[in-house]
Order: sequence, then C-alpha cells, then structure tokens
Amino acid sequence: MTTAIIYSPVYLEHRPHGYHPESPRRLEEAMEALRSFGLLDQEHCVIVEPRLATLEDLMLVHDKAYVERVKRLVESGTRYLDGDTYLSPRSFEAALLAAGGVMKACEIVLEGKYINAFALVRPPGHHAGVYGKALGAASQGFCIFNNVAVGVMHLLRRKGLGRVMILDIDCHHGNGTQDIFYESSQVLYVSFHQDPRTLYPGTGYVDEIGVGEGKGYNINIPLPPGSADDAYMKAWAEIVEPVSRSFNPEFVVMSVGYDAHHDDPITMMGLSTQGYVDLFNKALELAASTCNGRFVAALEGGYGMFLAESVAATIASMSGVSLPITSQRTMSKDEVMKRVEGVLMRLKENLKGIWSF
Ligand SMILES: [Zn+2]
Repeated sequence: MTTAIIYSPVYLEHRPHGYHPESPRRLEEAMEALRSFGLLDQEHCVIVEPRLATLEDLMLVHDKAYVERVKRLVESGTRYLDGDTYLSPRSFEAALLAAGGVMKACEIVLEGKYINAFALVRPPGHHAGVYGKALGAASQGFCIFNNVAVGVMHLLRRKGLGRVMILDIDCHHGNGTQDIFYESSQVLYVSFHQDPRTLYPGTGYVDEIGVGEGKGYNINIPLPPGSADDAYMKAWAEIVEPVSRSFNPEFVVMSVGYDAHHDDPITMMGLSTQGYVDLFNKALELAASTCNGRFVAALEGGYGMFLAESVAATIASMSGVSLPITSQRTMSKDEVMKRVEGVLMRLKENLKGIWSF
C-alpha cells in the first residue's frame, strides 16, 4: 500500500516578494507534518523526484507562445506575471517540475509501481488556461502552468486512456481546467467551489456544462459560503456518485486545494480536516471500484494553519491509515443547506437527459 509523494526542494524556490499567502512555507510545513506523523517511513509513503516537463509536454495543454513568454519574463527578472501571480528567478524551473511532477505521478500509478500518488507541488495550476488567464479572470490566481491538465493530457494522448475524471475540491473554481477540457467527453471535470458571486475567479455556475462532445462532462457545484462537511457529502451522494459511476473513469485525478477548510484566511467555506479525509475516502473508493484504485492527487491552494495537518491526514488515507487527529465534522446552518439543495436541484435539471440521478 505504498503511496508516492512527488516532491522536490526546487518547489520552495518559487518565492514571493514580501508577504503572499502562496509561499514556500506551505510545503515546508506539510513535509514537516508528514515527517512528524511518521508517514515517510517507506512502508506508507516514499518520496519520488519529479521530472521537468518539456516544451512539448506543456504544449499538450498550453499555447507555445504563452510558455515562451513565461520563460522570457522569468529570465528578464520580471517580478509579476499579473497582479496576483509573482515570479522569482527559479519560478520557471519550479513550474516545469510542478507540471512534470503530476505527469510523473500519473505514470508511476499507471505502471502500477505505487498504489497511488500525491503530487506535493507548487506553484498551483488549476487557474491556468491555454493562454494563461482563463475565462475572463483578472489574473491567474498564483498559477503558472495547469499541472493537472498536463498530467491528464499525458494520459489521454500518450498513454492511450480514453476516460479520465478530474475532481477539483479547491475552494476556487478551476477556470483553467474547465476552459481546457470544455469540449471534451474524455474528461469528466467536476468542481466543488465557493459560489462564484462571492469569490475569484467569478466563474463555475451550474449552467456551464460543456459544449459539443463535451456537453454534460463539465459539472460545477458552486456552494454558498458557510457550506460545511454535510453539504459536500450531500453533493457527492446526489451528483458525483451517480455521474462518476456512469462515466466509469479509467483514472481519477484530484485537484486538491485545502482552502475550503473553515480555517482558511482567504475563503468562507466550512470543511473540516475530517471532511477532507471523507472526500478523499469517497474518491479512493470510486477509483477502487472503477479503475483498480488508480488515483493521483495534486496540490492546488490552501493557506491556513490546518493545511499541513490536512495534507498529512489525506495522504495517510491514501496509504490506508488514519491519523490520530482531533478534527470534528462540521454542519452547515439550515439556511445554507437550503441553498445547497437549490443548487443541486438546478444542476440536476441542467444535466437531465445526459446523466440519470
Ligand atoms: Zn484555491
């Protein structure tokens, strides 16, 4: 039951200029938590080095001119890609290793070398679209290349897979990922996120369901602020469970942002650490029953003091153990739950005729 953790110290070399929530501390603390919980003992988890994504790899997803522009900006010492997204001298290298890290994670799980893999990478990726900014967002939200999309395209285009599910539980909508796969029926993209009227990037409504071949394969679950563990579980049971069983993925990849934790300083959701573990267990069960347990999780956001513990607790689930954490499951207020029910009802209405509930 060994889980691979894809990690490189180069991920720490993508450095902000002054205070920024997306800082190298996030990974340092997560690694420290893994160590202190005794997970890095070879029996549970093994650290695996990522590889550098090549230009050709990135072009599975991104426009060549965009990749070259990022490289040029980093080389010229430019400090910001946009208002939210900083660059530092080794940012390009870190970004190549982040995308290459998810590719590596997908490869080693597909080859059966590890039961599953967690790509503990940064910079994050799900806001990055083909050309950088996606779907009219004002910025790339700390992302450079779409790591998960590159890994998934690698599975589809080079490894011959035909059906991959991306589960995105970051608190923000993965506008980049939606943009990239919007016309594809090979990728079922399901995103849980905070109501876009209340949070960056302002997209991810229930009526954005994909177009053409991809109609019905893009599923947004925008939850009201204050949504807690029970809201996520309800959405899982009513939407994700039936759709994913019917889609029957050959591989499950999770964009995991821990910023839907009730403790996160930049969002307003109510997941507990235990709630994250529950979501992982659902995803792991889904992968076990559809695709031999092939499951890769890749880090997106998460900026609060419970990030490290949540990373450790969810990685522990992947390797089949539970940590002695004291997290209590959270409950949504009645008025929040009523709004959640409304969202799920509208979503089912939009997907009627494509999936059965
Ligand atoms: Zn986020």
